[in-house]
Amino acid sequence: MKRTAERGVQRLLHLLLPPACAGCEAPLSAEGGRVCPLCRTRLKEPPHPRCTRCHAPRGTGLPASRPCPECSDWPEVLARARTAVLMASPADTLVHQLKYGGWPELAPFMAARMTRAFPTAELSAGSLVVPVPTTPSRERERGYNQAELLAERVAEVFGLPLVKALRRVDGGGTQVALHRHQRRSNVEDVFRPVEARRVETRARPVLLVDDVLTTGATAGAAAQALAGMGARDVSLLTFARSLPGRD
Ligand SMILES: [Zn+2]
Ligand SMILES: [Zn+2]
Repeated sequence: MKRTAERGVQRLLHLLLPPACAGCEAPLSAEGGRVCPLCRTRLKEPPHPRCTRCHAPRGTGLPASRPCPECSDWPEVLARARTAVLMASPADTLVHQLKYGGWPELAPFMAARMTRAFPTAELSAGSLVVPVPTTPSRERERGYNQAELLAERVAEVFGLPLVKALRRVDGGGTQVALHRHQRRSNVEDVFRPVEARRVETRARPVLLVDDVLTTGATAGAAAQALAGMGARDVSLLTFARSLPGRD
């Protein structure tokens, strides 16, 4: 409750104070959006060459036949992942501000970067946009689910239906500071189908939307829950990609 009140104060301050960049707090001109021009140029796409499936940078000179260490343990239904930017300053600050800082206004800017990272030619016909859900208690605390805000804008830009096909149950706790194998067992069983959305999801390709991709454990578990509802091909689209141990 205390955190909810703090967030309310933060939001009020955003409205009252002169506009400042969400990435670096530099003053902004009135029409400049929420992110300053310098922060915009500092956002970096994953460099080439990339894994064709998950777009992780592969490093030059590696044979294409060598399995990608980032996605080789993903479930088959999670066919591809695309991300707008690498998780480095100021992307990390923007993600944090959207999630914890009470800045839902950042979603349109971040979603615009995301749709640029996913060429419409790669979109399977009849795709549904599905946000990765958060638990009801976290959503109550924040007042919104950041993945859903991003998914709403992505669906709008692509002209695709937004379907909240999954719900997330409590348990598992936070993924922060867990190792790769711990992350997987931590989220394996937290996604459930929303029964009323089952028919819409059957036999459809899905564009799954989240704010951050780290190991793919969360997205893999969500993709498997969607497969259990009959979805046939899941693509993941995130704003940022964190590559632990590679910085
Ligand atoms: Zn800035
Ligand atoms: Zn890969």
